[in-house]
Amino acid sequence: MSIVVIIPAAGSGSRFGGSIPKQFQQLAGKPLIQHVIERFLLDSNVSRVIVPVAEMLLGNVKNSDRVTFIAGGATRQQSVMNGVEEAGDDAELIAIHDAARPLFSATTFHAVISAARDAGAALPVIPLTDTIHVMSAEATINETLDRSMLAAAQTPQCFRPDILRDVLERAKQDGIHAATDEAGLAARYGYLVKAVPGDPRNLKITVPEDLAIAESYLEQWSES
Ligand code: C5P
Repeated sequence: MSIVVIIPAAGSGSRFGGSIPKQFQQLAGKPLIQHVIERFLLDSNVSRVIVPVAEMLLGNVKNSDRVTFIAGGATRQQSVMNGVEEAGDDAELIAIHDAARPLFSATTFHAVISAARDAGAALPVIPLTDTIHVMSAEATINETLDRSMLAAAQTPQCFRPDILRDVLERAKQDGIHAATDEAGLAARYGYLVKAVPGDPRNLKITVPEDLAIAESYLEQWSES
C-alpha cells in the first residue's frame, strides 16, 4: 500500500508560548516532530512523508529518500494544500496528521486506513466527557449542546486523494481558509466520512503541561 503522509508543522503554536513553536519542543530527548516522522517511517504502508514547515526553517532541515520538507502556508489548510500539491498522483491514500500529536498508535492509524479504503475518508474520534456550551461574547451561556451527538476529532485522518483535492479546492473557492481539519471539510461537501475509535493518549500538545503528560505516556508505552 502506498500512503503519503502530510504533517502540517508550519504553525507558530501561540497557545503554547515560548520562543520555539511547540512541534519543535523537546520530548524525551528529541523534537516532537521527529517522534511523529519516525513513527510514520516505521510503517511499511507509508511511502512518503511530507512536512510543511515555516519557510524560514527550510534551511535547518534535511530531506531524505522518504521525507520531504516544504514551505507551509499562512493557515493549516494552506499548509495541507501545499503538501497535497507536493504529493503528486501516486498515493493510494493521503493521511494528514498534526505535528503536535506524537502519541498516535499503529492500531489507530491502521483502523483509519482500513475505514478510508472502504468509505473514502476516515478519522479517529473520542467521546466528550465535558459538557459543551455555546458561549456569548459576554461569557454567558447561549446554548448547551447534546453531548451524545458530539465527538472530538483526532488525527491521523485519511482520504482518497481525489476526495481530498476536491474538498480543498471547493473550500478555497468558497472562501474557507482556516478549516481546523480536513474530515470536517469532506463531510461539508457531502462525502461519507467514517469514524473509528480514537485514543485519549493521542493528545495534541497544546500547553507546556501537556509535555509532561506525553512523557509519562511514552514511558508507559516503552514499558508495555
Ligand atoms: O493550531 P493547531 O494546533 O490546531 O495546528 C494544528 C497543526 O497545523 C499543527 O501541527 C500546526 O503546526 C499546523 N499548522 C500549519 N500551518 C499553519 C498553522 C498550523 O502547518 N499556518
